[in-house]
Amino acid sequence: MERENRHIVNDHAPVISISGLFKSFGELPVLQGIDLNLYEGENIAILGKSGSGKSVLIKMIVGLLLPDKGLVTVLGQNVAALNRKALDRLRLHIGFSFQNSALYDSMNVFQNLAFPLTMNVKHLNRLQVTRAVEEALEAVGLRDKIREMPSDLSGGQRKRIGIARTLILKPKIMLYDEPTSGLDPVTSADIIELINLVQSQYHTSSLIITHDLTCAKNTANRIAMLSKGKFSKIGSFDELFVTDDDQLKAFFNYNFL
Ligand code: ADP
Ligand code: MG
Repeated sequence: MERENRHIVNDHAPVISISGLFKSFGELPVLQGIDLNLYEGENIAILGKSGSGKSVLIKMIVGLLLPDKGLVTVLGQNVAALNRKALDRLRLHIGFSFQNSALYDSMNVFQNLAFPLTMNVKHLNRLQVTRAVEEALEAVGLRDKIREMPSDLSGGQRKRIGIARTLILKPKIMLYDEPTSGLDPVTSADIIELINLVQSQYHTSSLIITHDLTCAKNTANRIAMLSKGKFSKIGSFDELFVTDDDQLKAFFNYNFL
């Protein structure tokens, strides 16, 4: 399952471009000069300890928070400059897999998946909606759960359904916030496999926020280490952790001590 850790050489404009990004909350500086380009077809993992600003960064990419300074462009558009309607249109291309899955507990799996589709794509008949839901469930291997309620699913299944719900709109970009957190190693391995499958079947480019070095190693072309509001290192897994033993030690000290 291990991925080839190669850099994607790409002359095209990046799908996400972040430059000189700063964000504070009151007196608390969170992001202090972030630069990152995500190229088409690339997966970048962002590692950083709890509270380092990983979710804040993702929220700026989808326009839920605005930068104090700096620029975030997604698919060539300056996110902070978009009006509500343009932002909604841009978000259709971004699949956001939340830290807590965020399924609607009062709706069954079918309804959870059909909801974003019927909200955003008009004039679909019942059969078209059903087909789209079945296709997304097929992709995550849970077609048989279509009538289940979220409360009857395991943590891993809820994550998969959350990912299926974003796939239904065929996003160009996937943002995964802690996709394997709280999962046992076997279930984590399934989610890692799913992230790679989504990339190859749906041709997505992804940012994967994670604490999990195994997840980063097996999904990402590049890994970015967020520390003190900046990316202290960006490179392939081998560059960061195999050729630089001190960096590996630092990672474990930093996350687990
Ligand atoms: P993580 O890296 O664990 O995802 P976050 O990005 O969620 O961390 O948060 C980074 C810091 O910013 C934390 O100290 C958090 O309390 C603070 N923070 C996040 N969102 C807000 C907000 N809307 N208002 C004030 N502080 C916030
Ligand atoms: Mg977070």
